[in-house]
Amino acid sequence: MEQNGGSIFPVGDALEMVIIFDRTGKITYANDAAEKKLEYEQELCGRNISDIFPNHFTAAENGLETAYPFGHELQNLVAYRKNLTCFPVEVRIMSSYAQPQTYICMANDTLEREHLNREVAQIKKEVQQAARVKAEFVANVTHELRTPVNGVLGNIRELLDVETMPDKLRPMKMIERCCEDMNKLIDNILDFSKLEAGKFTLEKRKFHVRDMLDYVKAHHISKITEKGLEFFMTVSPNVPEYVTGDELRIKQVLNNLLSNALKFTSVGKITVEILKTAQINGRIELFFIVIDSGIGIDKAEQDKLFQSFSQVDASISRKYGGTGLGLNICKQLVELMGGRIAVESRKGRGSTFSFSIWVDSCKEEPDRPAGANDARRPALTVSEVGERSADELQSFGTSKNREALEKNLSKLILCVEMENWEKAEGFMETVRQLTLKAPREVGRMVLRLKMAIQKEDYEKTASSFEELKAYLQ
Ligand code: ADP
Repeated sequence: MEQNGGSIFPVGDALEMVIIFDRTGKITYANDAAEKKLEYEQELCGRNISDIFPNHFTAAENGLETAYPFGHELQNLVAYRKNLTCFPVEVRIMSSYAQPQTYICMANDTLEREHLNREVAQIKKEVQQAARVKAEFVANVTHELRTPVNGVLGNIRELLDVETMPDKLRPMKMIERCCEDMNKLIDNILDFSKLEAGKFTLEKRKFHVRDMLDYVKAHHISKITEKGLEFFMTVSPNVPEYVTGDELRIKQVLNNLLSNALKFTSVGKITVEILKTAQINGRIELFFIVIDSGIGIDKAEQDKLFQSFSQVDASISRKYGGTGLGLNICKQLVELMGGRIAVESRKGRGSTFSFSIWVDSCKEEPDRPAGANDARRPALTVSEVGERSADELQSFGTSKNREALEKNLSKLILCVEMENWEKAEGFMETVRQLTLKAPREVGRMVLRLKMAIQKEDYEKTASSFEELKAYLQ
């Protein structure tokens, strides 16, 4: 900081010209930018401001003559260099509060600023273009990767249906598992790249909260049972039946936290709680808590968890796999939904992940006749609904399963009509899960439909859809 060798303004690399003058117009301070742009060599001090702005200031015997409107407002003036050539400037000249009878002039070269603005706009455009190219590249590569992975997956599932030899079943199951992991990885990379490029949009629609939780539970229950863990899911009675929000993305966050809880817990239990924590002007804050009794995370590592590609340590990634993208995606999704995600954990004692999101409240519930909803599903815990309900949902042919299939298929075809292939893929995944226990020919039809959707092939999607629909009816 310097003023005539003393202190007021940063001089070194300031782009703006700063000149201070007294009531007679005598310049008492000029920064480097002013010296340089006006082409003086450290000789501005002592000159008169009328040398710089002769059209607006005249040095007279009894002071400075000027009609300049001193103040914070920007004025367009012409500044003269030492060699009497001139250039346009944007200027603000005001009287100093600290030093009476002193004026501070701050000026920017208009042409230079315009040039800089153009350069900044150009760089911004190039950065956006590079981000778009990258996002498109990732989208194309992941799309291309998906096709062979699903080819292998479909075939191995068909072979698994007929294979009975235990020594062959094991490697085949391993192939199936690897393909499923690969698909998860592809989804994560795609989401991550979209979130990074700021191209991620939420798709809000009305959905039934407890139905969504049933799906999430059905997705994990067999693995939870396989590991011999206890599972509880509690929905507070104050959580409304219906809300409007991005159901798919809420499920994605919850699924990710549950998968992690399951991955890192070998004994004990996993608990999920859902509460309504606030309601303001038709907006509702929902709060989700996922508690496990697993390996836990060191305090020092907890802060790094939500960064991309972060895993607690290499031994964990070797033992449990994963890319460290999941929690970063969760964090970004939760923040897009207006909420926050947090973790509390003790090494060896388990972890608690919690997140909040904002959704819109829904007044009427036209999809279900009044009262029917209460009879079918009172506001009780999903754990009370129990395994039976989840099993019913997944068992092909039960009324619950048929209802869910119909609902998802009609939403799927609607997305296809609207060419929202990504969303159609989401419904496709639910249809796939709902038909896991279906006869083989249904499995094949589902696979054909899935492949057609992944290729974004409208004709094939429509014919596969008709084929499946006709069979189901
Ligand atoms: P990944 O896909 O590798 O699981 P995540 O971002 O979901 O990536 O998780 C990052 C890391 O955080 C995991 O590798 C693990 O070390 C740690 N972690 C996440 N959830 C839990 C949990 N419930 N218990 C213990 N560690 C966890």
